[in-house]
Order: sequence, then structure tokens, then C-alpha cells
Amino acid sequence: MRSAAALCGWDQETMMPTNGAEGRARTQEALSRVLHQRLCAPQLGDFLDELEARETDAEQKALLRELRRDRDKALKIPERLAGDLARTSAMAQRAWVESRPKNDTAAFNPWLEKIMSLRREEAESLGYVESPYDALLDTYEPGARASRLEKVLGDLEAELTPMVRALSEKCEELDPRLPTGAYALEAQKNFNRLLLSDMGFSLDSGRLDESAHPFTEGIFPTDVRLTTRYSESDVASALFTTLHEGGHGLYEQGFAPEHYGTPLAEAVSLGIHESQSRLWENQIGRSRSFWEHYFPGFQKAFPERVKGLPLKDFLRAINRVKPSLIRVESDEVTYNLHIALRFRLEKALFEGSLRTSDLEGAWNEAMWKTLGVRVDKAANGYMQDVHWSVGLVGYFPTYSLGNIYAAQFYRQMEKDIPDLDGKIRAADFTPILTWLREKIHRHGRRFSGEELLIQVTGEPADSRYLVEYLRTKYARLYDLTDL
Ligand code: MG
Repeated sequence: MRSAAALCGWDQETMMPTNGAEGRARTQEALSRVLHQRLCAPQLGDFLDELEARETDAEQKALLRELRRDRDKALKIPERLAGDLARTSAMAQRAWVESRPKNDTAAFNPWLEKIMSLRREEAESLGYVESPYDALLDTYEPGARASRLEKVLGDLEAELTPMVRALSEKCEELDPRLPTGAYALEAQKNFNRLLLSDMGFSLDSGRLDESAHPFTEGIFPTDVRLTTRYSESDVASALFTTLHEGGHGLYEQGFAPEHYGTPLAEAVSLGIHESQSRLWENQIGRSRSFWEHYFPGFQKAFPERVKGLPLKDFLRAINRVKPSLIRVESDEVTYNLHIALRFRLEKALFEGSLRTSDLEGAWNEAMWKTLGVRVDKAANGYMQDVHWSVGLVGYFPTYSLGNIYAAQFYRQMEKDIPDLDGKIRAADFTPILTWLREKIHRHGRRFSGEELLIQVTGEPADSRYLVEYLRTKYARLYDLTDL
């Protein structure tokens, strides 16, 4: 049922004609109702009772635990609420699409209000230990707590803020950027396909297409759909999007075949999912070693643009630090500040301590305080992301968790794989993918995200590895000794 829904979702974003929207919404609602009914069916409860009473091995126990978790969650959500959420999200998204270009906050805010109130109701239905926001977090990052995130994101912000200041000053002075002009689309497509297949993504078990907002949709582990977006004037956009989605795609292709179709062949959390994409995009894809291999080919693909460009200038251009308004275009260092800000504001909105009518002011002030940039219009401010309109509240923090996990995994990988840099310089990604498959991918939901981190790296998530990684990388890149 989930595969069918995923395929409908992928089609909606890539191929479906505009007038298909209404019919597709009804199809999706029908599918989600059937899935909900099956999860709630008494027979499934009987099966689980019976199997839980039997002697089972650790893997079977994990499978039963995760099925029970899905079922318990479904049972707690009244069908009326599930329907309201699905319908309101669809309508709120449409309102967002229409009101954002016009900066029409008056048209959008009532929808945001409705979403928040339905999600509050959902949190109360699901239950929580500390804070209602935790119930939403738990959907994306099982076991996560707002109180812990506050500390993690707060610490990260304290470390990164001075780093952003120093680096953006340096970048302002050096002004590293890629040569302007057109980068032929056909050459871009070939180059992106090469990267994807070198990473180890199987195009026999997946596809790469295009969409306005790139994403990865695992229809089945043997049918993983990625999208990227090409821009003739911005060659870096597709490159890093492809590496990012490719990392997500490798995770989706990496589950154990014997568990296909069960929760053990599903991602454990969004944070772990995002760690896979960010590791390929940033730790690997924005590194010197990676481009020592690929830069000559890149120069050959776009001779009119980058023929004589020194590698060092290219590396600085793709790693330029510059506080800006838009999260998805932000660099590795400022990115987490965008997330810290969203987390604080959405939590306040959700808890009712911030009114929707005050959100725009609060957002603009926070952007000025945190990043030193002035928001010119709501479309570039609190209305920039689709998430809230489709009901994804408690989702943003998983992006930063992904960055934190990626740095921690990568540090362990450096210990486990001899001469990791040399392997990357030779574009020999097999040891990397094998490591990821064995340590992370094949387990699916067998272990929690936290257990996985401890198992792989010997300790729970710790943001200092991300800070260390950024400090070392950028100090070297910009010849700064006291970063
Ligand atoms: Mg992602």
C-alpha cells in the first residue's frame, strides 16, 4: 500500500498534468484510509499478540516491535482527524503556492493556524512524556525530545555564529565564485549521471528525473526515484542536489532483501536519512580529494567556462560562506542557523506562545539577529518553505540532526577505512558504500537512531564532530589559523 502511495506521490511531482491534482488527492486519501484500516484491523492485533508470545530471535523481535509501533500510532489517531489532516494539508499547500508569490500573508496565515491546531490535536491523541511537540518529533525522529534539541541546537548555534562571521568576512574579501555564463544542460546531465553511477547508485534499481523541488522517493528498494534540477546559469545547483539525493537513494537501495516489504526495510529516522545525503553532498562531494579526481573532467565538460580556473578557486566557490535569506541555498556553516531559528519559532507557534499574526515580525527579527540579514518579503522569509503548509511540524530539526550524524559517521569512517582520502581521490567509493551498507543501511529500523550511532561510533550523537569538521575544513580552505 505504501509503495502504491509513494508511486502516486512521485508521479504527482514529476509527470502528472496540472488538472490531475484533484483526482490524485482523492486517490491518495483512499490509499491512506485503506492503509490505516489495515494497520488498525483486529486480525493484525491478533497476529502480533500471538507472535509476541512465541520464542523469536532478535531480528524478529525488532520486526514485531516496529509493526506494533506503527499499529499503536495508527490506533491512536481517530479516522476523522487523519482525514481532516490530509484534506487540510492539501488545501493549505495550494494556499501556500498561491499566496507565496504575492506575499499574501493574510491569505496564508489562517491555513497555518488550522494546521497548527490539527497537529496539536494529533499530539494530544498520540501522547507524550515531556512536551506535546515531542509527539510530532517522534514521527520523524523516534525518541527525540524538544528539551534535548534545544540544547543541541543552542550549542551548535553558539559555536557556529562566530565562525559564520569570520568566514563571511573572508569570503566577502576574496569573493570566490564560479565564472558566470551558460553551462550547457546536456553536459551537466552527463556529468551528474556519471557522479551518480560512480557513487554506486544502481540505475537498474532507480531513476534520476527532474522536478522543481528535488526529492527522493523509495517506491521499493529495487525502484528508487531521485530528482534533481538543472539551471544553465548555476552549475553547482544540480551537482550538489544530485549528490545529496544520491545519498538518500543509496540508503533506500541498501536495505536487506530478506526484509523487503517490512519495517526492517525502511529508514529508521529522517535524521539518519539526511545524514546519508549530507555525507555524500558535503563531507565527500565538497572536499578537495573528490574534486582532485573530478575537476579535470569538469573542465573538459565546460571548457568555455572553467578551463583555466585553478582548483583552489573552484573549491572556495563551492564552499563560499554567505549568510542569506533562503535555507535551501545556504552553505554548510550557516545552514544550521536557519534550522535553529525555525525550530524555535515553530515550537512557539505550536505551543501557542507565538501568534500566527506575529510570526512574520518574529521571523524577520530572528533572521537579523541570527544571520544579520534583512528579510525583504514574506516569500523570502517565513513563507519560503513548503513544510508548514503541508503539516510538517517538528520536521526541520531532523535536517540539523542529519548534519550532526553525518559528521560523526564520517569521523568514524576515517578511522575504519585506511586512507579514506586516497580512496576518494581515486573515486573508489566501494569501501565507503560497503561501510555504509554494513553499518547503517542494511539494518533499516532494526535499531533506533541513537542505538545505531552508539553501535557505529561508540557514543550518542554529539554536535562537536560537526563543529570540528567545519572548523578544520574551512580553516584550511581559507588559510585561517584562528577559526
Ligand atoms: Mg534531504
